[in-house]
Amino acid sequence: MKRNAGLDRNITKGWRPATQAVRGGTWRSEHGETSEALFLTSGYTYDDAATVAARFSGEQTGMTYSRLQNPTVEMLEERIALLEGAEACRAQATGMAAMTTALLCQLNSGDHVVAAKAAFGSCRWLTDNLLPRWGITTTTIDATDNAAWEAAIQPNTKVFFFETPANPTMGIVDLAYVCGLAKAHGITTVVDNAFATSALQRPMDYGADVVAYSATKMMDGQGRVLAGAVCASAKFMEEKLLPFQRNTGPNCAPFNAWVVLKGLETLDLRIHRQSENALKVGRFMEGRVPRILHPGLPSHPQHDLAMAQMKACGPIFSFDVDGGRAQAHAILDALQLIDISNNIGDSRSLMTHPASTTHHGVGPDVRADMGVGEGMIRINVGLEDPDDLIEDLDRALTAAGL
Ligand SMILES: *Cc1c(COP(=O)(O)O)cnc(C)c1O
Repeated sequence: MKRNAGLDRNITKGWRPATQAVRGGTWRSEHGETSEALFLTSGYTYDDAATVAARFSGEQTGMTYSRLQNPTVEMLEERIALLEGAEACRAQATGMAAMTTALLCQLNSGDHVVAAKAAFGSCRWLTDNLLPRWGITTTTIDATDNAAWEAAIQPNTKVFFFETPANPTMGIVDLAYVCGLAKAHGITTVVDNAFATSALQRPMDYGADVVAYSATKMMDGQGRVLAGAVCASAKFMEEKLLPFQRNTGPNCAPFNAWVVLKGLETLDLRIHRQSENALKVGRFMEGRVPRILHPGLPSHPQHDLAMAQMKACGPIFSFDVDGGRAQAHAILDALQLIDISNNIGDSRSLMTHPASTTHHGVGPDVRADMGVGEGMIRINVGLEDPDDLIEDLDRALTAAGL
């Protein structure tokens, strides 16, 4: 097995992202396969007992057990790290495994976390329920308000945790400001970059310390597998994340890693086309619904910031109707092309009513605090012809009385 496909790393590490997406991190076996090999193995064998002893003592590098190393998973990790501009990456079983690992590997009882109040439902559960149970206090703030970050810092604040754009309210966090503030106070920033991915936004370029992913979304991009990833410095990996991950085991399965590895090859193409489609659909929807939250449209209160830190608007936006849950559900029920689905990042267009799905679990008070109303609908715009999507939406809105 040749790591880096046997090529000169001094040359390959300078490849641009489009090249890394297709070739970065490739290992090649003696068979010279073009597509990356899939190693569906939990364990490894050794020629002799001295070899395995050397591997366990660290004198020799090599595989010992797939909770610790797997060639297919390592290919994915190398590729994600190269695309992110990160020193290191570890793949995880799911996006939530990535978020949980990124937080718990570095926090101790008595620490404090400042987190965005607008977040994926399970991320809110981590900050509202899990961390406090383990003696880690949290403050949730309006992450779009720079002053709120500074005001929430306490002497024991260890981590800033947020996503941008945020799910499903599409708030944008000022990466340069918030990461800079964290650095000045010795606080570690953990950014959930699932919506934009490295193809549109690289938080580490703005000073983020840890970038965590649901690879289930845009990275796979075709709705097939669950996966996650955490990117960080080599030091953070060695000292914080690896001891936690090796012993608790939230690992990505080799098959899932392989699927995501193939997904990354087309990530840039997909996310740019889906962003273009989302802009076209958004422009239509702006004239048809009372309120739209779309980072690509000038009506978004943070449009300029979004476009300054992202290369394109991404495939996801939300809108609000005045008729509450009944009207929102009526729109979903009248769709003929777009699927009712709470997933995102898929090449298929999908719509969901967050209050009754992704954000049902956080409860009505948290939803109100986050700005997730009963009339809010989130859409993931896929790779279909946007004119077909517009016709479907137009028909569904009319059927629901809009
Ligand atoms: C989906 C999602 C997650 C969780 O990822 P899973 O792969 O479903 O565990 C976390 N954060 C954001 C922003 C997401 O969209």
